[in-house]
Amino acid sequence: MSHIAENLAQVRAQIQAARSRFNRKDDVQLLAVSKTKPVALLLEAWQSGQRHFGENYLQEALDKIAALPDKGIIWHFIGPVQSNKTTPLAENFDWIHCVDRARIARRLNDARSDSQPALNICLQVNISGESSKSGVSIDELPALAAEVSRYPKLNLRGLMAIPASSHIFEEQQYAFSQLACALQALQQDHPSLPLDTLSMGMSNDLDAAISQGATFVRIGTAIFGARDYSTKNPLRNPT
Ligand SMILES: *Cc1c(COP(=O)(O)O)cnc(C)c1O
Repeated sequence: MSHIAENLAQVRAQIQAARSRFNRKDDVQLLAVSKTKPVALLLEAWQSGQRHFGENYLQEALDKIAALPDKGIIWHFIGPVQSNKTTPLAENFDWIHCVDRARIARRLNDARSDSQPALNICLQVNISGESSKSGVSIDELPALAAEVSRYPKLNLRGLMAIPASSHIFEEQQYAFSQLACALQALQQDHPSLPLDTLSMGMSNDLDAAISQGATFVRIGTAIFGARDYSTKNPLRNPT
């Protein structure tokens, strides 16, 4: 087995173990976060059956999408959305995970073509209240969700968060439980919407995320190895 195949098998086993430990009957999907990684590694993951891929940088993602046509890949954009990039995002992705402003939602809706299915949207929530992080606050969430739900070319699927990093399992769980509560509240407000998605959990906190109901875990390092943001890498760390 290749390195990627082994890593993927390990991550899938960890997801299954967490599902049974926390008695999750529903599905937990694996989103392979491939930012900064070459197409050859994505192809290896694809050969091991991986179909959901997450990317953070638009131009890099567009190059990969062009290099991997007709493979049944579901492309997720998980980076911050700039309003002048909404057209290529709406045209090329199946999911956008980081919508946190009505203006971005409107622009994505306007740019999505009528020949495409509605674009799947997650609203990014700043659960830890860190001023440095993007995301809407829990208080502002109902108004944003109401606005987004009115756009015909958007399919509001749920919520996404990147909590403040912690190595304490109970702290990780607490942050994810807040996102899960926020989703429950939205489901009550919008019973006719398909609000079935909690995009939460990364390589270091996926067990805690699964314990609190994650439906997509976004895993990069555990599949593809550490990322290289040094200067010889053209993709510079944006933060
Ligand atoms: C990079 C990234 C991930 C993957 O993180 P790992 O710790 O490498 O698993 C997940 N979600 C988002 C939004 C990211 O930017």
